[in-house]
Amino acid sequence: MTTERIIIVGTGVAGLTAALAARSRGMAVTVLTKATIDQSNTRYAQGGIAAATGPDDSVEAHVEDTLRAGAGLSDRFVAETICGEGSRAVAELLAAGVRFDVVEGQLALGLEGAHSRPRVLHANGDATGAAIAEALIERLAASGAVVHEHALVAELLRSGSRVAGVRLLDGTILEADAVVLATGGVGQLYPYTTNPTVATGDGLALALRAGALLADVEFMQFHPTSLAIGGNALISEAVRGEGAVLRGADGRRFMLDVHPDAELAPRDVVARAIAAQMRADGGAAALLDATSLGREQLAQRFPGIDAMVRSRGLDWSREPVPVTPAAHYLMGGVVTDDDGRTTVPGLFAVGEVACTGLHGANRLASNSLLEGAVLGRRAIEALDLPWPDGSRLEHGEPIVLTEPAADSSVAGRHEVQQIMWRHVGLERDGAGLTSAVTRLDQLIMPPPTDVKSAEDSQLLLVARAVAAAALHRIESRGAHWRVDAPETEPLGRHSAVVMEV
Ligand SMILES: Cc1cc2nc3c(=O)[nH]c(=O)nc-3n(C[C@H](O)[C@H](O)[C@H](O)COP(=O)(O)OP(=O)(O)OC[C@H]3O[C@@H](n4cnc5c(N)ncnc54)[C@H](O)[C@@H]3O)c2cc1C
Repeated sequence: MTTERIIIVGTGVAGLTAALAARSRGMAVTVLTKATIDQSNTRYAQGGIAAATGPDDSVEAHVEDTLRAGAGLSDRFVAETICGEGSRAVAELLAAGVRFDVVEGQLALGLEGAHSRPRVLHANGDATGAAIAEALIERLAASGAVVHEHALVAELLRSGSRVAGVRLLDGTILEADAVVLATGGVGQLYPYTTNPTVATGDGLALALRAGALLADVEFMQFHPTSLAIGGNALISEAVRGEGAVLRGADGRRFMLDVHPDAELAPRDVVARAIAAQMRADGGAAALLDATSLGREQLAQRFPGIDAMVRSRGLDWSREPVPVTPAAHYLMGGVVTDDDGRTTVPGLFAVGEVACTGLHGANRLASNSLLEGAVLGRRAIEALDLPWPDGSRLEHGEPIVLTEPAADSSVAGRHEVQQIMWRHVGLERDGAGLTSAVTRLDQLIMPPPTDVKSAEDSQLLLVARAVAAAALHRIESRGAHWRVDAPETEPLGRHSAVVMEV
């Protein structure tokens, strides 16, 4: 079958890239997004996009950094594919009109945590995601794709074994030869998150209910440094890359005792060290000291963060500011191959919703915009290739989720978020995880009538998947830290979750 009509769900970097690639091949493209077109995690990305473009860099070095961060669960083949296409993705973004920052005629390259050299391209200092989204949205407007805003996808529809369309919240049915999920992350599972309100994990729940396999969803990355005043706005790792340091209440640089890379250690290490320091300091937030950068550099290199910090009444060029970890990025997701194909024919997943195997147990900073840009295009190129038989990813017996009993208690989003923060957060243990799984399995959400309630029921299913996977992983690895099992097993294994359908 030749693909002619395609539905793309989501307007972040992954969905926009896929839509443009499909239009350039002359397909009839319908893009659906549940809020306005500019609402996405992509828009908030600050640090930039990682790609080996510098003269002293290589794809091999980028791959090795990615694998090291992934703590034994990243797939080398996938990392080689995606890192290997980094230069091409950057060239395509430049061609689409993204203006990356330039120094002395060369693309400026930032250094971020766990990268062995500077390789993170950025735009407008710290507004890379917005620059990418704006350029791609402008291209999309001129591409002839049909775009529906405020069109929440509530169900994937199947024809036989294939996904062949979607049902929207208002009941509208749309049919297609293939559906590309590009629905982003799950930050709203937690009360403290750097993610915008649209990040409710819809794509994972839609895929589960359509029979697709999820993997490694226990690996939730908590960003170490969100501002602890006025919400949880992110302060990019790039600020530490430029020289900012972390201090406890007594002013001591505690990361020096924790890891050889100090403030630029992998995110999970920094986030847990901050949490431990906060406990030692009686709950007081840790301090990010960027004073050595000076007022001018902070304003020039990080104009967006600088404005945000100052809007909270803080002058970070003169004094350290309080920071705390917050839920940021889901490494696992809907299992796909390196072309975005899920385990259900006709259904693709690209970007943060997917688990390609690139990120393993911990994402290397700035690899997610890259993955979205590369996979968005690759999925379209693979539309008419034969569907693989099952998943490339080797995993044990999947955890099987069932629909809750009709007499379960009706929950609200707040209750789910509190359970997740308390028991399925930065530090976990068997007793807490067991109580989380037991409680979440007893809950139902009210029937979906509007966007919020539709999101709530997806969120609850995703919470159950994440908590169950975390309970089953009795080791510590990457972003998954079990206080009761601090060792890492010698052999990495992937977890898997399916739904009884
Ligand atoms: C504050 C912040 C800073 C970050 N900084 C960086 C960085 O510097 N570098 C980096 O690489 N990564 C960064 N990340 C991560 C990165 O931004 C995301 O992983 C990436 O942008 C995800 O892109 P995506 O296209 O997969 O999804 P998103 O950009 O999240 O887009 C998802 C889209 O799907 C839509 N959608 C969701 N559910 C439905 C539904 N049911 N029906 C219809 N539409 C739906 C949403 O409305 C949205 O348009 C950052 C993330 C945050 C939050």
